[in-house]
Amino acid sequence: ALKILEACINCDMCEPECPNKAISMGEETYVIDPDRCTECVGYYDEPTCVSVCPIDCIITDPEHVEDRDTLYAKFVKLVQTE
Ligand code: SF4
Ligand code: SF4
Repeated sequence: ALKILEACINCDMCEPECPNKAISMGEETYVIDPDRCTECVGYYDEPTCVSVCPIDCIITDPEHVEDRDTLYAKFVKLVQTE
């Protein structure tokens, strides 16, 4: 999963672009739900939130490092439960 850093300026660009509805407004900045972020695996070749963020404040979450197979399995599970 990816993570939004505190530098986030709450520009609202990423939230509507997430195919997994993993991004929401947190206490001070937007946040990513690691249970819903597939790093866009299953939808796009690149993480779309990273593509649209104007200040590059989205990184790989060091507490949720996952390989592609794990991310794809998460994508399948999310699609099946919705
Ligand atoms: Fe959503 Fe993709 Fe960003 Fe994860 S990488 S938060 S799935 S847009
Ligand atoms: Fe924050 Fe970047 Fe998302 Fe804008 S696009 S709300 S700066 S994480």
